[in-house]
Amino acid sequence: MEIIHVSAECYPVAKAGGLGDVVGALPRYQREAGHVAKVVMPMYRTKFLNDNQFEVVHKGYTHMGNYWFNYTVIKEQTNRLGFDLYLVDIYGLLDREKIYGYGDDADRFIAFQIAVADWIAVWRHRPDIVHVHDHHTALLPFMFKYCYAYRHLQYIPTVLTIHNGEYQGWLGWNRSNLIPEWDSYKTGLLDWQGTINPLACGIRSAWKVTTVSPTYLEEMRHDAAGLEALLEYEKGKTSGILNGIDTVVWNPATDYYIEDHYSIDTVEEGKQLNKLRLCDRFNLDPRKPLITFIGRLVGEKGADLLPQAVEDSFYYIGRKMNFLILGSGLPDIQGRLTGIQGLARGDYNTYIGYDEALSHLIYAGADFILMPSRVEPCGLNQLYALRYGTVPVVRNTGGLHDTVIDYGDKHGYGIRFNQETVGDMTHGIWRSVELYQQPQKLYEIRQRMMKLDFSWQSSVRAYLDLYEGMRKAAGE
Ligand code: ADP
Repeated sequence: MEIIHVSAECYPVAKAGGLGDVVGALPRYQREAGHVAKVVMPMYRTKFLNDNQFEVVHKGYTHMGNYWFNYTVIKEQTNRLGFDLYLVDIYGLLDREKIYGYGDDADRFIAFQIAVADWIAVWRHRPDIVHVHDHHTALLPFMFKYCYAYRHLQYIPTVLTIHNGEYQGWLGWNRSNLIPEWDSYKTGLLDWQGTINPLACGIRSAWKVTTVSPTYLEEMRHDAAGLEALLEYEKGKTSGILNGIDTVVWNPATDYYIEDHYSIDTVEEGKQLNKLRLCDRFNLDPRKPLITFIGRLVGEKGADLLPQAVEDSFYYIGRKMNFLILGSGLPDIQGRLTGIQGLARGDYNTYIGYDEALSHLIYAGADFILMPSRVEPCGLNQLYALRYGTVPVVRNTGGLHDTVIDYGDKHGYGIRFNQETVGDMTHGIWRSVELYQQPQKLYEIRQRMMKLDFSWQSSVRAYLDLYEGMRKAAGE
């Protein structure tokens, strides 16, 4: 099968979160399973672009409304990612350093999708599957089916994977001229509650829709940032497929970013060495349990609860633990988290920003990782933590529910709490401190965690089965 992934992110080319990790790994495993997997993404101006060799494979000229533009498609020459990587350049729109966060993001991603459709339209063959990811590429299934310029692509089976349903790409109807001319009978597919909603449009127009964990799909039927009724209505074509992790990139025995490698047999010493590095760098006390957080500092991740939970922990449990926070996001949360530094020197520190290397060192050196998420479509942090022998302390939601069993339960290994409250999180922190004081128990849990298999194998199979079903349907 030839599978085309179209995405805004792909590690290591450009990553802002889990979407990048997934699109950087899934195609490689699909390729290993004997298929042709390709990734098409915008050509941002990231380091990857300068460090690698590319060839131009296509040049086109098309338009978004009355804005005509040239685009260029380049291909990475060595296949070093384990799949074919194509980057689409649109001068003035995609040639930026960051992936998101610009005032014209809607124009950028719609222009990107138009260029992708325009390019695929001139191929001499049709790919077997076009797999789009999140709202940035969710208009493509609609464009293929209902935009006059691309209707000869309507028989290509399309899959939309929702990595995060909180962001939907809303657009006022006054901007509808950005979308290529469509069959006006289908206008309702673009609209959701009075605005153009690319994610909703993708859910309606794609042949199949997946979420990145089964529990997240269940939850979305009750709480999906306004799309609940739609997910209930379309439930016949939805399924939840848990993400895997890239076991080449995320392996404590070979990790490119850490110096003190370790395996399940040397986990105690290995983690200690990494912890010492972290404590040295961030002025923390290595004798105390190191509790960390890595992620976007937004309400969805429960990051707004962190400052109070840290303060309450010091107050009620005492200075028996260290905290290290790595993340960036809402200025208010950033400010509150850095504010604690002065109050708890030696036991608390933050790094505000995005740092891939530091994240790896934290997974390796931390004892516990906090994930108080309000919403967690899958969550990769807990999966990386498990592989690195770091105990996840998670709220019982979405993918966290599907992957973390409380150590108090049969075959358990993590710490789970139910409510998105400071009190529940502080209780989880208290249980972490308790567990740390029982080295034999902690050792057994680490051994259990590191033997778990969250590799891509079974998820790749599930995606391939889904694709096969669609191909059969297309052939009938
Ligand atoms: P998200 O909802 O942000 O996509 P996931 O758990 O699916 O959450 O994926 C988060 C990914 O981003 C993980 O690889 C995590 O290590 C990484 N990450 C998040 N914030 C940072 C940061 N500030 N620095 C380095 N890596 C980060």
